[in-house]
Amino acid sequence: MVMGIFVRPQALDYKARNFKMLIAGQWADGAEGRELDRNSPAHGVLVSRYASATKQDAERAIAAARKAFDEDHWPNMTGAERAAILLKAADMIDARREELATLDALEAGKPISQCRGEIEGAADIWRYAAALARDLHGESYNTLGSTTLGVVLREPIGVVSIITPWNFPFLIVSQKLPFALAAGCTTVVKPSELSSGSTLVLGEILMEAGVPEGVVNIIVGTGPEAGAPLLEHPDVDMISFTGSTGVGKLAMRNASATLKKVSLELGGKNPQIVFPDADLDAFVDAAVFGANFNAGECCNAGSRLILHASIADEVTARIVELSTKVRVGDPMDPATQVGAIITPQHLEKISTYVAGASEAGASVALGGESIDLGAGDFMAPTIISGVTPDMAVAREEVFGPVLSVLTFNTEAEAISIANAVDYGLSAAVWSRDFDTCITIGRKVRAGTVWVNTFMDGASELPFGGYRQSGLGRELGRHAVEDYTETKTLNMHTGPRTNWWVPRS
Ligand code: NAD
Repeated sequence: MVMGIFVRPQALDYKARNFKMLIAGQWADGAEGRELDRNSPAHGVLVSRYASATKQDAERAIAAARKAFDEDHWPNMTGAERAAILLKAADMIDARREELATLDALEAGKPISQCRGEIEGAADIWRYAAALARDLHGESYNTLGSTTLGVVLREPIGVVSIITPWNFPFLIVSQKLPFALAAGCTTVVKPSELSSGSTLVLGEILMEAGVPEGVVNIIVGTGPEAGAPLLEHPDVDMISFTGSTGVGKLAMRNASATLKKVSLELGGKNPQIVFPDADLDAFVDAAVFGANFNAGECCNAGSRLILHASIADEVTARIVELSTKVRVGDPMDPATQVGAIITPQHLEKISTYVAGASEAGASVALGGESIDLGAGDFMAPTIISGVTPDMAVAREEVFGPVLSVLTFNTEAEAISIANAVDYGLSAAVWSRDFDTCITIGRKVRAGTVWVNTFMDGASELPFGGYRQSGLGRELGRHAVEDYTETKTLNMHTGPRTNWWVPRS
């Protein structure tokens, strides 16, 4: 049963943009003059053409970042000076919000209203990182005796490779780059080849805001060609990667040759656990939001519901009903809630998961099919009931608007089902009982647990995953420390006790 409110994409009144890459403060074509085209996944027409980087370009960008770190003044500027530049960038992000939001909507197929919110949220992160730039500090120990003073310094780690995915193009680069810059690092950024436009505009903003040349370099290209050197090159000190768990594992393997620090934000299979005493009106809305936000192409998607058996039928029926009212279609329509699927291949992958669930004995309670809106790739909101924890749709990241409904009878069983996947990014618990919420909050192995809400966030709160959802945390006050090395200065005053003493 495919039901919903479907909005046909209107003909686009938009002139495709050409982008160059940013290396050593200059906008450049790739060494081989190659280009990459991006069509809007909702409209099927060209919206962006980027200069495409080869290994040679990636190496030039790394050399520029290395030089800027080793020879220039960026790492030695005061925190206040770096903060002033980050704040200026935040104001310019606000000023260019509509342009940035339009690029993300057209390249990634995301609803324009949502994109505007993401750009606004990103500007807030730049401001928060600016505050941390001034507050970054080490420790001192004057408790080591009268002849010893210990000072623990926080130094920028060096050159950081930043690799980002297509699903939140501007937001995710903003969860990394301002913190790396706040710490005094220099960077090579490679956005996804499917949605590089807003990151390249960010490059313009940063140059104008006063970031010195070579401090931020931005290259565009495919993972194996432009991305691979960023994982391997000996002049890179750290990799900050957001993307699939498979490529995250590759990043870690390749980083091992030179023992780079690795920070990984990877996939998720996030459960919402619901008890009978919960505010079910609030939960039903959160379930539909969690499954369909960003067309389910979201590491934080609430793709698994774990419902108490006594309420499962009633709650599933209510979720099905509300899901038929979700507006799917043209991302440029401000009322659209679910946009296009990123590529036809990805749409095919989503459909394969739905077919697999049916074959394994689950029932498609709603949707399950792609929708023909005359142009682009769209998927109907899909709800699968009767899912068991062993099914692929319950364990693997589908990355589409597909909700799996599982049931439990006891608290222990709910925790066990929630933890029975390789991921551990986020989770939610819904109950009016304090003990239940605290117990679930502590026992579920995930980097974030929401209590009676879903997918809320703030620049102050750390974000990241347990197990195969990643390594390290972004956001929060520790985020800037992730881009630092710790150095101990152990200082001695007065006469030192000799090791060698004359023996008679
Ligand atoms: P992806 O892993 O295919 O690509 C991510 C980035 O890595 C892209 O820039 C890509 O070009 C690059 N890349 C690919 N192969 C590479 C290689 N061999 N060497 C170097 N770079 C390479 O992921 P995607 O499809 O763009 O994004 C979807 C995935 O991202 C999902 O799994 C999602 O869960 C995850 N994600 C995680 C978070 C988080 O914060 N945990 C946030 C958003 C997305």
